[in-house]
Amino acid sequence: MDPFLDEITLTFTAGHGGKGAVSFRREANMPKGGPDGGNGGKGADVVLRCDRRETTFYQLRSKKMLTAPDGNSGTGGMKDGKSGEDLIIAVPEGTVVYNEDGTVAADLIREGDQFVAARGGKGGKGNVFYATSRNQTPDYAQHGLPGEVFSCKLVIKLIADVGLVGFPNAGKSTLISHLTKAHPKIAPYPFTTLTPHLGVCYISADASFIIADIPGILEGAHTGVGLGIQFLKHIERTRILAYIIDLYENDPFPNYMTLVKELEAYKTNLTTKPSVIVLNKIDVVDREMIPMIIEDLKEKLAAAGIDTVKDILPISGVTSEGLAQMAQVFYRLTDELKRAESEKQAAADKVPPTFTM
Ligand code: GDP
Ligand code: MG
Repeated sequence: MDPFLDEITLTFTAGHGGKGAVSFRREANMPKGGPDGGNGGKGADVVLRCDRRETTFYQLRSKKMLTAPDGNSGTGGMKDGKSGEDLIIAVPEGTVVYNEDGTVAADLIREGDQFVAARGGKGGKGNVFYATSRNQTPDYAQHGLPGEVFSCKLVIKLIADVGLVGFPNAGKSTLISHLTKAHPKIAPYPFTTLTPHLGVCYISADASFIIADIPGILEGAHTGVGLGIQFLKHIERTRILAYIIDLYENDPFPNYMTLVKELEAYKTNLTTKPSVIVLNKIDVVDREMIPMIIEDLKEKLAAAGIDTVKDILPISGVTSEGLAQMAQVFYRLTDELKRAESEKQAAADKVPPTFTM
């Protein structure tokens, strides 16, 4: 596997438009027939396109400058020059394109998302274009325009498949450190996690998902309390949400509803995402109660008309009970969603979305 390279600075130069031709028809006994110089071809664009197979910018490491081909010159006989073939650069999903001033030029999130980083120059008009009744033999044509030059920084922002949502101390950091190689700070007080932690959880050598530990959201967080709001942008992009509930401290249903209300208050698409409810800390709860707690929760969800919750998983982040099953569920759900996205993408590929400057 390529070494991970998640930031790179590059300059793209689009192709120059081809020259228009100065040419005249050759006719018997006529030194100059009518003008017949064709137009120059358009210079090629430089296009960045998300490709699921890319995971790094390693393949671009030796390139500081990437240049798309020029358009060909027009020729006599009214033949237009060929346009340059666009230079398509495959980038990983989650690539953010930054302008030199640090503003975001494009956010390439999913397979097929694309961005025209530099537009090719227009081809020049051939001398046919200038022919008028008063000047029937123009001996000039356009040169074609230069392609755009665009310097930018590309940064990979990993997009989590699974975002963990829960109040402080629910056990999110503990969970992610068990599932992945990320080692978030773990401490028994709120706000130990100051930035979202991302980790890759491997089910097997070639089956994995990305999980993000989002700092705890608090009741009233959308009004500015707590740290959660800054990180909502991260969980907005995740495929599924896992609501982590501390069984020792909380009654699951009201706790879940409070979390949902918090998320709804941000007016995001979050609560319509597929989700699972993770009942954590079963090591400190009476075991016999657990099936009843789950049944009760199911009934209450059904009564409230909530159909986004795909599973309820009892676990302990301390004893690791239930973690393997939970990881399997996360993997299965994200894999199903990825397949559905690929199919949708394949259909949409006929009309690829274009983000322009
Ligand atoms: P976070 O704020 O949601 O990230 O929670 P942490 O992972 O930092 O955990 C908060 C506290 O709960 C720590 O003291 C953990 O040791 C404890 N904790 C986490 N998971 C479990 C669990 O499954 N069982 C028990 N008994 N304690 C846990
Ligand atoms: Mg934490």
